[in-house]
Amino acid sequence: MLLNYVSEEKNKMNMYTKILNDAQLTKNFKISEMECHCGCESVILHPDGILLLQKIRDEFKKPIEVCSNYRCYSHNINIGGSPVSFHLQGMAWDIKVQGVDPLTVGRYAKDIGFHGVGVYTHNGQRFTHVDIREKPVYWLDGVGLNNLIRVTGL
Ligand SMILES: [Zn+2]
Ligand SMILES: [Zn+2]
Repeated sequence: MLLNYVSEEKNKMNMYTKILNDAQLTKNFKISEMECHCGCESVILHPDGILLLQKIRDEFKKPIEVCSNYRCYSHNINIGGSPVSFHLQGMAWDIKVQGVDPLTVGRYAKDIGFHGVGVYTHNGQRFTHVDIREKPVYWLDGVGLNNLIRVTGL
């Protein structure tokens, strides 16, 4: 009897998890796109950041691949993330906007209010890190910058 109860409750929880995963957060983003990539299905959501991501989607009108989003503690260690990464708090996203260069994405992200913006164009990488930290920080291929606007020649 107890076993039946447990398995029924488990089925119910699995169903709710599926419904939650499929839930649409904004016009173009689902909860499942914000979950940790290790398969643990955990997520922390910061609506401010997700609304800004949607703004980027609306501006460029191209699909966005979220290559890194919320990371659980063990996944962050496994991929060599910083121990104080904003990804751990669900406040950071690494994105590729189809057909748009990462610096253009970075400049726009900065203009609309992402305070942490990192542009990656070296070692075969092409993506933009955006986060909603308080104090503005910008960087290009690991080098800190005062302002992304002055960067040219990419
Ligand atoms: Zn995980
Ligand atoms: Zn990142």
